[in-house]
Amino acid sequence: MAAENNLQAIIAHAKEYGFVFQSSEIYDGLAAVYDYGPWGSELKKNIRDFWWKSMTQMNDNIVGIDAAIFMHPTTWKASGHVDNFSDPMIDNKDSNKRYRVDHLIEAFADKLKEENKEDAAKSLLSEMEKLEANVDYDGLKKLIIDNNIKCAISGTCNWTDIRQFNLMFDTKLGSVTDEADTIYLRPETAQGIFVNFLNVQKSARMKIPFGIAQTGKAFRNEIVARQFIFRMREFEQMEMQFFVRPGTEGEWYKIWKEERLKWHLSLGISADKYRFHDHVKLAHYAKEACDIEYEFGFGFKEVEGIHSRSDFDLKQHQEYSKKKQQYFDADIDAATGKPYGNYIPYVIETSIGLDRMFLLILSNSYQEQTLTKEDGSTDIRTVLNIPAKLAPNKLAILPLMKKDGLTEIGKKLLEECKSSFKCFYEEKDAIGKRYRRQDAIGTPFCVTIDFQTQEDNTVTIRHRDSMTQERIAISEVKNLVLNAIL
Ligand code: ATP
Repeated sequence: MAAENNLQAIIAHAKEYGFVFQSSEIYDGLAAVYDYGPWGSELKKNIRDFWWKSMTQMNDNIVGIDAAIFMHPTTWKASGHVDNFSDPMIDNKDSNKRYRVDHLIEAFADKLKEENKEDAAKSLLSEMEKLEANVDYDGLKKLIIDNNIKCAISGTCNWTDIRQFNLMFDTKLGSVTDEADTIYLRPETAQGIFVNFLNVQKSARMKIPFGIAQTGKAFRNEIVARQFIFRMREFEQMEMQFFVRPGTEGEWYKIWKEERLKWHLSLGISADKYRFHDHVKLAHYAKEACDIEYEFGFGFKEVEGIHSRSDFDLKQHQEYSKKKQQYFDADIDAATGKPYGNYIPYVIETSIGLDRMFLLILSNSYQEQTLTKEDGSTDIRTVLNIPAKLAPNKLAILPLMKKDGLTEIGKKLLEECKSSFKCFYEEKDAIGKRYRRQDAIGTPFCVTIDFQTQEDNTVTIRHRDSMTQERIAISEVKNLVLNAIL
């Protein structure tokens, strides 16, 4: 299936089965804002919980926080977001359509690739990265003109100069409309971690190296919002800042790069679908940075960033708040025989978008399988083979008929399992139809209760991916599911 169609099929499936709806759809929606439905909110929660557990439960030197979305406005001055959190934009004078410069050039490079002009595409992208690294906007505009890159709507090359556009949403605190009261909806969760660095270090008695993790909403006024929940204006991040002794950041950067890729692969997703993209353009304070990219239907795209941020953020907050952001390291430095003493720690950051991870899981698991029936005719099965631990619903309990005591057995199994994992109970419709509905929402196990169950306490358990069925004791069902979702 073509890439775009595949995304269209996923969007349609996500709506039909209660994963993702357009926000305020009855009013024709709000661009780049989405709501999660009954199964979507379960899947999203499971991804968030899996990340949270892997950070704060599996690492005894990482703790969590839950900071507010609103922060003192000086936070964003100190972090550089007020002055620098912007994307270079260019407008087409004939259509008035605004483009992000990198998106415009990348889309043209994709076209070149489709025409088998791989080398031209590569050299265009590398030239773009060089110009971006030098913040050379005249050069970028020239690159667009020289390559005759046109607006998709007007078809012309009549471009404005390139300008910066700040991505932060602002609002007013209280009723006074004074500029001093302007506050921002946070564009990243990280700053809530930085301003709480000493609160956390002292209250949780953390010793360097240690990390602080947080999940929560972030807001960006993205100009070009496309590709469904890949680029949203309101989204959720899962970020972890790891504070280390200066001089050790290189080795910790490597460790976190590996750890994060391992996390992705632990979900059973094929390694071919992932690659690292090392940044050429580094923020002036950054020492190293890379993206973990996943191959979506529309190409390899960033899902997660890993950044070695030096002591930039804490130093900035120290300067703007006039409050020391130092840590006292009592460990002995072998070189001097004395404690390392006071310093501002360096930071390695891992930052992943929850909604992008959600799209990754949907894209990776969505399948339309052609099945051949016994009579030779074919049928399409739409299935989401979501990893069992993330699946929104773990077990469907399906009495074959709504009579003769089968309901009671089913309800009893439901009572036994529902406090341990999410179950779904259904008595209506032919069993084949019920299986298909569970396949479509990614339920890894279905249990059918029939008349034999009454005789020997066994049930048929059906496995989603292989569609194989086996007879097992009803008493074994709970443990089988628990083992699969560990
Ligand atoms: P991009 O280059 O795609 O705009 P970014 O480099 O600005 O992303 P970061 O600031 O590093 O992204 O944010 C960390 C993560 O947050 C990204 O890897 C992505 O998963 C997620 N993210 C960022 N912007 C959005 C958005 N508009 N919608 C959904 N997720 C986002």
